[in-house]
Amino acid sequence: MECLPYSKVGGMADVVGSLPAAQRELGWSASVVTPYYPRIYKGKVGKEIGSFDVYVGDTPHHVVLRRAGRYTVLVDQPTAFDRDGIYADPLTGVGHEDSLFQCLVLQQAVRTALREGLLKADIVHCHDNHTGLVPTYLRDDGGPKTVFTIHNLAYQGRYPAEDFGITGLDPARFFPHSEFEFHGTFSLMKAGLEVADLVTAVSPGYAGEVVREDEGEGLDGVLRARGDRFVGIINGIDTALWDPASDPLLHANFSLDDFDGKAACKRYLQTEGELDVEPDTPLLGIVTRITSQKGLDLLGPLLPWIARQGAQLVMLGTGDPHIVELYRGAEARWPTRIRLIEKYDEEAAHAIYAGSDMFCMPSRFEPCGLSQMYAMRYGSVPVVSARGGLRDTVQPFDDDNPDGTGVLSWWATTDSYHGALSHALELYRQPEKFARMRANGMSQDFSWKNSAGEYLRQYQRILDA
Ligand code: ADP
Repeated sequence: MECLPYSKVGGMADVVGSLPAAQRELGWSASVVTPYYPRIYKGKVGKEIGSFDVYVGDTPHHVVLRRAGRYTVLVDQPTAFDRDGIYADPLTGVGHEDSLFQCLVLQQAVRTALREGLLKADIVHCHDNHTGLVPTYLRDDGGPKTVFTIHNLAYQGRYPAEDFGITGLDPARFFPHSEFEFHGTFSLMKAGLEVADLVTAVSPGYAGEVVREDEGEGLDGVLRARGDRFVGIINGIDTALWDPASDPLLHANFSLDDFDGKAACKRYLQTEGELDVEPDTPLLGIVTRITSQKGLDLLGPLLPWIARQGAQLVMLGTGDPHIVELYRGAEARWPTRIRLIEKYDEEAAHAIYAGSDMFCMPSRFEPCGLSQMYAMRYGSVPVVSARGGLRDTVQPFDDDNPDGTGVLSWWATTDSYHGALSHALELYRQPEKFARMRANGMSQDFSWKNSAGEYLRQYQRILDA
């Protein structure tokens, strides 16, 4: 449902927007099909490549497929996608009471376009629950093989059982323990996990976690049953877009060899954030969706301690009002130390990665996480919980491991994160060590090269099977 530059809520948009280009560089032909949100994407939309009706229940909905750029096909269906936001509010569910309808329009559009020969594919790579029935539709049609990637198992696309009636599938296929049924509800995620030819998760670490009963959100058994058809592949990042040496959104550019711009970015962030402008004060950054997943409520009780340490914190994000309140309270108490910027803002995000000394991700779980990789590239040392993709991408720095790139909190608790942050601040006071840790992070190769190749090997494997 998300793909840059056409839409974005979280990391999935970055991944869907950048993986296909990396695959094309390796010689495969890869295109994306994604909704057209006219209120969100204001760029140019190319010519129509076909149109047809899709059925949700008995009602036909007219879909127009449009090209955007050379490699993207936009699904234009105003009833489904002419909206202000992409998803319902995750806390209240308000906003898109008909999100199943939106998902079905996208999924039926892919199915119909393949049936009618408007699109051709050997593999259809589906992303998260919103595409969960595509493997079923395509298998029913004798269509291309399918890969289903879990970006976040916590969002499962569960609907009342009777909603199965609008999918176009025979109602007799919905019964207890069928691929569509999950504890009496209809689950898009489960259908994708059971039916796709291959299932992937966005990091090996997360893939290892979600097969465990306590981490699998009820679907661990389904994933275990997939055996070697379930693999973890770490996300890459678009290293051309996210390059501090050339990033046009930055106040000043910098690189390891020409580092002065980093101090200018810090000064700019302190100034814009209305914090005390102090070059030597440790400045912590956060860019995030504000949800309990991200563990910001665990960090909340440490805000007074951060301020009293003489450190500063800038957080950019929107979401859970209870967590927002915690940060607003601290901001009111320490206005020159703590700043919450409550919005979605690409430029501010870049300014925080570039201007901060350290980047906080106290996540309770993290399927992959892209922010820590952006932070490392921009010389902001990640202080993260040792979960999922964070564990895979951040190596703990210490005297025994001088090649480390950040600081890990081993448990998702306030105490544990307190320990990690204290350690990070201690390292900050030892400039040589800190500079080394930061340089290690800036030198990491987070490009798509390896992971795009791994996806292609997996595609080949299921094509050969
Ligand atoms: P998730 O996908 O769980 O939200 P990731 O770390 O994988 O987490 O990706 C988050 C992406 O969203 C990053 O590109 C981050 O910079 C961006 N992002 C999150 N919140 C904001 C915001 N308020 N403004 C701008 N970008 C944001």
